Amino acid sequence: MDSARHGRIHRPARRTLLRGGAALGLAAMAAAVPAAAATAQPRSRPEWGRPRAEWIPANPANYTVSNRPSSYPVQLVVVHVTQETYADTLAIFQNPARSVSAHYVVRSADGHLAQMVRDKDIGWHAGNWNYNTRSIGIEHEGWVDQPEWFTDAMYRTSAALTAAICAEHGIHVNRTNIIGHHEVPGATHTDPGPLWDWDRYMGLVRAAGARARS
Ligand SMILES: [Zn+2]
Repeated sequence: MDSARHGRIHRPARRTLLRGGAALGLAAMAAAVPAAAATAQPRSRPEWGRPRAEWIPANPANYTVSNRPSSYPVQLVVVHVTQETYADTLAIFQNPARSVSAHYVVRSADGHLAQMVRDKDIGWHAGNWNYNTRSIGIEHEGWVDQPEWFTDAMYRTSAALTAAICAEHGIHVNRTNIIGHHEVPGATHTDPGPLWDWDRYMGLVRAAGARARS
């Protein structure tokens, strides 16, 4: 896929979604998000039924400060599996020597969500600058060959997050726009791997999006 093709497909959709959904989104935010969430999250866009996230900042040496979506449109969600524990992943993203980060990390056991890079900033997760500029990266605790790490709690938190990101940025929920790291051109990584249940994940994303709109 190339950015020109993306632009043609998604610009009208974004306008349509924002125009049609803004009022609904504000209503959902008022109903579903307690006031405390506003201070917990460094976020400038409306909440669309987002799961609550713990802010654990990555080291500033590990990402690029930006002003998305003004600087770059957000058009993709990139799904990763950490190949590390949750705790070690946080430590890696906080280590300025590692030059790597993702926006979110989901814990296997309970689906706990950490945000480490603001959505407006550019995480270094895809191994491809063009894709990094246009994407949000979500890391899932586990190993690609050990599907027992891919818990129901982790799938559900991640799917709710992805649904919210898609709603906020007018991203169509499909496998062209919600991709695995291995699908990024030039990727040397294999995550999330063949044992990641894409059918289940995409179903949960669509269901979470439908709930947020209802
Ligand atoms: Zn990855």
